[in-house]
Amino acid sequence: FCSEVHVGHVGHEIRTCTGPRSGLRNAMHVWTNGKVVDVVGFPLCFHLDDRAKKPRVVHDERSTVKRLPAIVELCIQAGLDLPKYPTMRRTRPVHSIEGRIVEFDDDSASNNDIRDEVSMDLPGSECLDSEELTGDITELSIKILESWFIMKNGAEELMKKFSVQTCGYCPEVQVGPKGHKVRMCKAAKHQFRDGLHAWQEATIEDIIGMNYVWHVRDRDGPALRNELKRYYGKAPAVVELCVQAGAPIPDEFRSMMRLDVVSPDRDEVDLVA
Ligand SMILES: [Zn+2]
Ligand SMILES: [Zn+2]
Ligand SMILES: [Zn+2]
Repeated sequence: FCSEVHVGHVGHEIRTCTGPRSGLRNAMHVWTNGKVVDVVGFPLCFHLDDRAKKPRVVHDERSTVKRLPAIVELCIQAGLDLPKYPTMRRTRPVHSIEGRIVEFDDDSASNNDIRDEVSMDLPGSECLDSEELTGDITELSIKILESWFIMKNGAEELMKKFSVQTCGYCPEVQVGPKGHKVRMCKAAKHQFRDGLHAWQEATIEDIIGMNYVWHVRDRDGPALRNELKRYYGKAPAVVELCVQAGAPIPDEFRSMMRLDVVSPDRDEVDLVA
């Protein structure tokens, strides 16, 4: 009934459901099998075909402008060429004169300056080949986690140079300097903004869905108990999935997963609860 994700063969018993009629269930979640998008979600944004001249999609264009995962749009604006999403690149900066955008030279087809500037030391575009996917589960989970960190760290680097905006009230994101002007915000106080989003600078978690889940230390143990939730740690779903599949726990998430906390034994539960 809600977006809570849990990795493990039994769901947890932690009462945090806020979905429809959760009151009737004492906030217990109702578990079904998850899909890949529950583990790694990539929020969509509008594609800008000319970010300098036309940085903001307006309301009337909402159904004609393509949407794509924001992380892909970020790569496109940083220099990635995808035939399906062409974009204007310039070798010289454009100038704004009395509100009009003026280009001083016209060889605007490709922009090697910007591309060189961002080519950085992003690791190569290695991907998992299908034959690699048939191997050992632990090896596979290590590779998945490595790729995920490459993507996340790379996107963080790009976000230092290319701005990404998110709405302060809802999860909408837009890659580009200003956010768009499509009136589709339904979150708090949108009537005061005429449906416009309240744009602010985004963080990595706005473009890569982390879907934090409770960390399960003992895969074969009983379901996580509501009474013990203060002893449990959390991790992004993809990290938890890979760790349960045998990958080592990444340093970055050790403290969040609360490995240092000793959780009480089953027979001590009643004492602390
Ligand atoms: Zn729920
Ligand atoms: Zn490959
Ligand atoms: Zn919004």
